Amino acid sequence: MKIISINAGSSSLKFTIFELPERDTIASGTFEKIGLEDSFYTIKFNGEKVKKEASIPSHTEAVSILMKELIDMHILSSLNEIEGVGHRIVHGGDEFTESVVLNEDIIKKIAQYNEYAPLHNPANLLGVEAFMKALPGVIQVGVFDTSFHQTMTKEHYLYPVPYEWYEKYGVRRYGFHGTSHKYVYNEIKNYLGKENLKAITCHIGNGGSVTAIDSGKVIETSMGFTPLAGLMMGTRSGDIDPSILEFICNKKGITIAEATNELNKKSGLLGISGVSSDSRDIEDAIAQGNERAILAQDMYASKVANYIAMYNNMLDNADVIVFTAGLGENSKDMRKAIVSKIHSLGVTLDEEANDMRGEFKCVSGKDSKIPVYVVPTNEELMIALDTFNLKNK
Ligand code: ADP
Repeated sequence: MKIISINAGSSSLKFTIFELPERDTIASGTFEKIGLEDSFYTIKFNGEKVKKEASIPSHTEAVSILMKELIDMHILSSLNEIEGVGHRIVHGGDEFTESVVLNEDIIKKIAQYNEYAPLHNPANLLGVEAFMKALPGVIQVGVFDTSFHQTMTKEHYLYPVPYEWYEKYGVRRYGFHGTSHKYVYNEIKNYLGKENLKAITCHIGNGGSVTAIDSGKVIETSMGFTPLAGLMMGTRSGDIDPSILEFICNKKGITIAEATNELNKKSGLLGISGVSSDSRDIEDAIAQGNERAILAQDMYASKVANYIAMYNNMLDNADVIVFTAGLGENSKDMRKAIVSKIHSLGVTLDEEANDMRGEFKCVSGKDSKIPVYVVPTNEELMIALDTFNLKNK
C-alpha cells in the first residue's frame, strides 16, 4: 500500500512516498520558496533527482504539480494508488495524545493550538487543506510532534509559576520532536528485545532535545512550552535565565519579539562561535584552532551531557543512550565530546566503532556501564506508519 508522508512549512512542502508494510521508499522531494519568487521543486525517484523551476504561488499549487509529476514521471500509474496521507503537525496541545484521522472538526480543534506554534501549525494545516482538495476520499492523518510526550505527569510538565498560567493559558511543558524520539525508541527496543526498556534518546540536529523514556512512556523531555527550551542548539539558546529578556530589551532598546528572535535565530552554536550554526563549519574552525568554535562545541556537549545525567537519575539508571538526527548520526566529534562529559555515569566510547556516519551501531566501549547506540531517525516513515495503522484500524 502506498502512503505519502508530508511535512508542510510556511514556504516549503516535503514529501516521501512509502510502500508499506515493506517500508520501501518509492520517491521523495521538496517544493521550496512557495509563494516567493524563484520557487522550484526537486523529486527523487529511481536513483535520479530532477530539479525544476516553476511558479508555485500556494501549497495547493505545489500539491497539484506533485500529483501531475507522479503520473508524468511514472512514479504511480494512477493517483488511486495513494491510500493514505500522513501530515506532520507540530502542536497538538495536551488534547492529541495520539495520531488522528483528520476531518473538518478535528482541523478546527488543531487550529486552537496555532497560537502555541504560529510559525508551524498554520503552515502544516495549509498542507492538509491542499491534499484534502487534491485527494478527496483518501484518509488524511495528523501526526503531532507533541503527542509522544503527553505521558508526562504534572511533576514533569508544570513550570513553577502561578498555577493559573497553566489553568487559564496552557503554560506548561509540551515537548517536541516526539515523532523522532518515538521512532528511535521503538527501533532500539525491538533491536534489544526488551519490552520495559529505559532509554535516554538524544535528538541533536539543527534543533535538539533529550528525552527520558521508561517502558514506552515519556517521563520528561528537554524542550518545553516552545522548541526554544532545553539544550543549546544550532541557532537557539535553549534554557537561559528568564530575567535576561527584560534586561536586554532595556539595554538594546528592542522589543520582546526582537529579543526572542535573537534567542531563536542568533544564539546557540552560531551565537557563541560567531562562525556558523552548522557543526561541520564549527568542526572546520576547530581544526584551525578557533577558540570560540572550541568553546561552542564544549558548551553544546556539556548541555547534552548534563541532561543525560539528569535523566539517568530520573529513570533510576537507563538501559541505553541513543544518539540521532544530524549531529547525533553524523558527528563523531560531538558524540565523543558528549560521552567524555558523562564519565561519572561510567559511560565509555569505542573510538573505532564511533568512527562512522549514519549507521545503526553500538558506539560505546565494552566496559561502558550504559550502552550507547546511534540510531538513524526517520520521522517521515513514522508518520507513514501511523497513517498505515489508522487506515487498517
Ligand atoms: P533539522 O533539525 O533541521 O532536521 P538535521 O537533523 O538534519 O536538522 O541536522 C542538521 C545538522 O546536522 C546540521 O546543521 C549539522 O550541524 C549537522 N550535521 C549534518 N551532517 C554532519 C556531519 N557530517 N558532521 C557534522 N555535523 C553534521
